[in-house]
This record gives sequence, structure tokens and C-alpha cells, in this order.
Amino acid sequence: MTPEEVLQFAKERGAKMVDFKFVDLPGTWQHFSVPLHELDEETFVEGKYFDGSSIRGFQTIDDSDMLVIPDPDTAFMDPFTSIPTLSLICTVAHPGPGAHKQPYSRDPRTIARKAEAYLRSSGIADVSYFGPEAEFFVFDNVRFSSTQNVQYAEVDSDEAHWNNGRNGGVNLGHRLRPKEGYFPVPPSDTLQDLRSEMVLTLEELGVPVEAQHHEVGGAGQCEIDIRYNTLVRTADNLMIYKYVVKNTARKHGKTATFMPKPIFGDNGSGMHVHQSLWKDERPLFYDPEGYAGLSQTARYYIGGLLMHAPALLAIAASTTNSYKRLVPGFEAPVNLVFSKANRSAAVRIPNTDCPSAKRIEFRPPDPTANPYLTFAALLMAGLDGIRRKIEPSEHGFGPVDRDLYHLSPEELREIGSVPGSLEEALKALEDDHAFLLEGDVFTTDVLEHYVELKRAQVNEVRMRPVPIEFALYYDA
Ligand code: GLU
Ligand code: MG
Ligand code: MG
Repeated sequence: MTPEEVLQFAKERGAKMVDFKFVDLPGTWQHFSVPLHELDEETFVEGKYFDGSSIRGFQTIDDSDMLVIPDPDTAFMDPFTSIPTLSLICTVAHPGPGAHKQPYSRDPRTIARKAEAYLRSSGIADVSYFGPEAEFFVFDNVRFSSTQNVQYAEVDSDEAHWNNGRNGGVNLGHRLRPKEGYFPVPPSDTLQDLRSEMVLTLEELGVPVEAQHHEVGGAGQCEIDIRYNTLVRTADNLMIYKYVVKNTARKHGKTATFMPKPIFGDNGSGMHVHQSLWKDERPLFYDPEGYAGLSQTARYYIGGLLMHAPALLAIAASTTNSYKRLVPGFEAPVNLVFSKANRSAAVRIPNTDCPSAKRIEFRPPDPTANPYLTFAALLMAGLDGIRRKIEPSEHGFGPVDRDLYHLSPEELREIGSVPGSLEEALKALEDDHAFLLEGDVFTTDVLEHYVELKRAQVNEVRMRPVPIEFALYYDA
């Protein structure tokens, strides 16, 4: 849409308010609104002022006047407000005259746009496609601590389902057991209509969906797959996706979470990211002669991802909770290798003979990650692999086709694994980030701020006693 078309669209839909949405450094949408008469074509150039000082990872108080510049291509009517509200996704900029506004170097959407520009300037490809599969859990909102879902965390799952003793003679046989959610029909699956409502809302907002299903997690885990698109567009779509998922759940008195490992002993929620590069409208990742139909360019891209994986995970698996998901036995990746069809590998090559569908799936990310930073960082790592010709087999990155959860300790020693904690990943990012600074896509400043913010979270968690410590040590 052009700015003029956006204004027309707002009028036709009876919009009374305009909501500006932008993303903070950790990846959460922030917003403020103006009455419709405050929006004109100039706004798309001049932007709107806001105070950037209270936004996580943004400016300090003495230098806090910032602008949001709305992107007219992102206009949609917000489906969750009762007062008709036009929604616009924005980038953030420093004030300046006319076209001289300086894109803000800590704005994640600006970083993602720079990554796309950098790709075009590299000559390697002109477009990159991203397809994220963001899983989530739906829990009851009311009396959260006593819902069936949390019982999984609190009692032994066998007890919860098969025995009626500890649960006061209550029969829990109708409930999905941990890791058995994929995917019996209703009434075992109680979330069918909720997911369908999410799908229809997404499609109304211009986010095409390919499928929805219950996931393996028995405690209400779901997945909705949105169609792949270009880098910034996919990150925008993922923000809309999370907004729709959370607000639809809320509308029904439930709550949805993208937290990677809410329930001990059940599957966690990942955000596998499918990726491919194209040049002159031709796919670059396909070669019928190659292992799993992969071209050498795709192998180098994989080499870059796996070589930089520990640093990438500081961004793509960005919470302390992320590392509770990245353990053996729950379909989450642990080993830094690539493989066709093996879900325990960090990079899986989906089985397809179609050149245009040939892609790689990077499995370690989870949906708490900031999608703009994550997709940008993955692209930068892949491009570094292509530029430096990092052939995965020369660095012990596979391919490996065996189930990696069942390798012997000797075999495992040969293979690298994902970092064990956010702290480790942050350290890896401090040691390995030159590839992110190419073309000024990321700046040292934004990386330092990011690490500082995340290290504060590490300390929040580290300083608190957690429930299992009472079981282990209370009576010690
Ligand atoms: N939930 C799994 C994960 O944590 C993935 C399951 C799947 O392959 O879809 O990555
Ligand atoms: Mg899945
Ligand atoms: Mg997948």
C-alpha cells in the first residue's frame, strides 16, 4: 500500500484510532496510539515522536527523543480492539530534518532491513526466504497454579494419569499425557477451534497459514505454520502471529505462552527456521547430485550456521529457559551437525525433490527470540559460511544420519553440541561476532547492550532459589 492507500483503507474501515507498533530489543511489541486525524501522508516520512528512554535496550534518559516511522505496507485493522483501530508496524529513527532521519542502530527492524540490503550488495543472492514454525502452549488463565497443565510440572506424570490415589480419586485418563499430544482428535485435543480461530484471524490480516495442529506436548502444545516470506516481512508476520495467538487465547479466558520449556518432562516449544537463498529468481540451494539434494552453496551456508551456532544461540535461544529445552529426548536439537530428516540435528534438510522448495531447517531457535535479530543473524552466519567456503564435513558437522540421542560417549565426543546455558551462549557471542558487524548490519553498541540486558536476566535467575532445590536440599 502507498500512504495514500493506507489513509483510504483506514477511512473505508471506519478507523477512529491509529496504533503504532514497534519492537524492543528483546523482541516484544510496544505501542502508542493517535486519533485518525493525526495521521497524514507526511507521517510516513516525518514519523511520530515518542520517548525512547523506557524501552528495553533503547536510549538513556538524556537522549531519549525518538521517532517511529510507520511502514505503509504493514497496515491492518487491529482485530482485538473494540474501537476500530488501524495498526502500523514501524521502524525507529533519530529525529532529523526531512529525509535525513538516522535509522536507529538498536532498532531490531532496522537491523533486519540492513541485513536484507547487505545480502543484495553481497552479490551472492538477492533475496532470502524465512519460514518459522513457532510452537506454543495454551494454559487456563483462571487459577493458573491449579490447572491440569501445571499438575504435570508438580507431580509425576504416571501418577497424574494412571493412579487415582494422590489426586484424590480423580480419573485423569481423558487427558493427553506428556509427549502424547501429536495428535489425536477431539475430545483429547481440546484446542481445535481455538487454533482455527487464530488461523482465520491471521489470514484476515494477510498472513497466509499452511497448517495448524496440536503438538507433541500433552499439556496443550500447539503449532500454526505461517507461509514463508522475505526476511523483514516474515519477522513482521511472526509478530502478528504472536499477537493473534496471545490475544485469541486471552479472549477465551486462556493464556498462550511461547516460553520454550514451561513443563518439565514434556516437549518444549521451538521455532525451527526454514531458510533459502535466491538469485535472479532461481533457487540457490538445490542440486540433485548433492547429499539430500543440496547445492555446495547450501552446504557452505550450513557450515556458517554451525560454525557460529554457539554465538547465534545468544540471539536465537535468548532466555535462560531456552537451555532447558535444548536437552536430549524431546525432539529438540542438541548436536551441531546437519542431517536429512533427523530431528535431533541442529540442521535438518526437509525431504523434497522440488528445486524451489529446497531449503534448510535450523532447529535450535525458540519463539521467545526476537525474530528480526534472529533472522538477520542467521543470514549473516550463512553468508559468512558461503564467503569463507566453510564446508561442514571438514569441521565435523556431518552429515550424520543416525539418531543422535543414541550415540556412544566416544562418538558424541567427536561432535559439537549447543551451549548448555544462556551464559555460555553470551560468552560465545562476545568471542565471535565479527560476522554480524559486516556491512554495519549489527553494531558493537547494539551487541553490547543486548549482552548486558541478557546477562541481567541470567543474574535474576541465578540469584533465586528454585523449587527443585527444595526437593534436593531442604532436608539435606
Ligand atoms: N517441540 C520440538 C522442539 O522443541 C520440535 C517438534 C517438531 O519437530 O515439530 O524443537
Ligand atoms: Mg513442531
Ligand atoms: Mg520443524
